Formats: sequence, C-alpha cells, structure tokens
Amino acid sequence: MLNSIVLTGGAHGNETSGIELIRQWQQSGLPARFNGLNVRCALVNEKAIDANVRFLDEDLNRQFTPERLATDNPAQEALLAKKLNEEFGPKGPSSATDFFVDVHNTTSQMGATLIILEHDEFNIALARFVKQAMPEANILIEDEKTFASHGYLCTLGKKGVMIEVGGQPQGVLREDIYLLTEKMAEAILDFCLAWNEEQALSRLPPCEAFRLGKEVSFPLDEKGQRKAMIHHQLQDRDFKPLAQGAPAFTGFDGTIYHWEEDTTYPHFINEAAYHKLHVAFATASRITL
Ligand SMILES: [Zn+2]
Repeated sequence: MLNSIVLTGGAHGNETSGIELIRQWQQSGLPARFNGLNVRCALVNEKAIDANVRFLDEDLNRQFTPERLATDNPAQEALLAKKLNEEFGPKGPSSATDFFVDVHNTTSQMGATLIILEHDEFNIALARFVKQAMPEANILIEDEKTFASHGYLCTLGKKGVMIEVGGQPQGVLREDIYLLTEKMAEAILDFCLAWNEEQALSRLPPCEAFRLGKEVSFPLDEKGQRKAMIHHQLQDRDFKPLAQGAPAFTGFDGTIYHWEEDTTYPHFINEAAYHKLHVAFATASRITL
C-alpha cells in the first residue's frame, strides 16, 4: 500500500518541465481521479530554480548516498540534501515516503523515459503499466548497484523512480516535453491507484527495457581537451542500436571514430549537464522486463 507519495521538480534548477508541472499541480491540484492518493508536490532546489542553473555548488541529485548524508560538507546542495532527508526520509526502511517520483529533463533525445533502480515486483509492474499506458515511453533500469547506494534524491523514499524527458535545452520549456512529462507523471499515479486497489498487475504483458551499461567518454587529447564531437549518424538516436563499426565521433581533424564494441543502445547522447565530465553517452543493453 502506497500511503505517502512525493512528487518533486527542480532538483536541477534549469529543468523547466518538471518545475512547471509541479507548479501547476500545486496551484490547481492534481487531476481529480487522484484524490484518493496522498501526494505531496514539492520544488526542491528553490535557489537553483531562481538562478536558472542546474545547481549552485554541487549536483543535488548525487548527494543522497548514505556516506554523503553522513558527511559534513558546506556546499549548499549538501546542506539542502540533509534538510530534504529530514523532510521526506530519513533514507532507509523507516522513510516517511512510500514512493518518491522525481521529475527531470535532458538535452538528449530520450523522449519520455522512466528510470527505475530496482528489478523487483513493484518496479517491473510499474514499468509494464507505464509502457502499456504510453507505448512511446522508454524504460531504463539502473540496477548496477543497490537502491540505497544510489545518490539520487528519489532514493529517500522506500521506493523511488525518476522521470527523464528530452530533448529540451536547459532553461527552456517546450510544449511537447511538458506534455510528455505530464502524461508520464499521470501514468505513474494511475499505477499507484491500481497498486493500492490490488489490481491484478501480474497479468500485465512483459515490456522492452534498457539496462544501463557504462559511460563513454569523448575522445580526449593529452591535455584533456576534446578531439571529436558526436557523429551526426549517432546524434539524436537515443535508445537506437549502435552497431559495431558504426561511426560514433567525428574528429575535428576529420577522423571518424567507429564504435568498436558489440551493439549497444546509447542514451544521454550529448547531454549538456555531462559537459564537464566529458561523458559523450551511456550504453545500455536491451532486455525484457
Ligand atoms: Zn536533472
């Protein structure tokens, strides 16, 4: 039974679709069919939202590991994380939040993506339900480590997921991205209703999903400067297969860098927020959930 549900936007202050959706729902209330659910809507990093930046000192959405929550760190987002942990957690099995949904957007062409962090009955049923309600959705599972060891805000809940929709530039609101975000948030809340009503969710058909592999760096020179950019045949092809031998990067000197590994399903291709880290994209394998 999901007795307390939290829905947040603005964990990254320049991701406008989640911020505007939460603002709308705070002002006008959720659609009436969700009246039976106890849903709290919150904007989390108000200072970063006002400044229209991802964060002020450090990425808030990496602060929620047990280690970081226990460390003294004067960064504004580290202090905010401790406050949020008191408000919505504490992180762990005694959390006040049964289910935490955190809304993001990306500059990559990932469409509407549901990010789940656990391969269990609840998350599999959720993924299948959302995919059935929204066949255009992508399901991404990041279960390379335990739920608790992730640093994501949504891990403050006993269960937690992220909505990630793109492509949308930072600080910009696009109608199509907003509407996809709203549709996925409603599909997740419809699932909460079905879960609480103990509907026969085990009968949902299996669905396609992508399991996170690793991050791939841009080719760098000895000084750590980029030597290449995403090849045009890879750009905007998030979750489409990238076969061995296919072009991945175009060098500034004209060199074409080919993908040398087995077929993968890249995502977060050319994500602006990963600029400093030189992450070009993340890989994934295609699975059935
Ligand atoms: Zn984000």
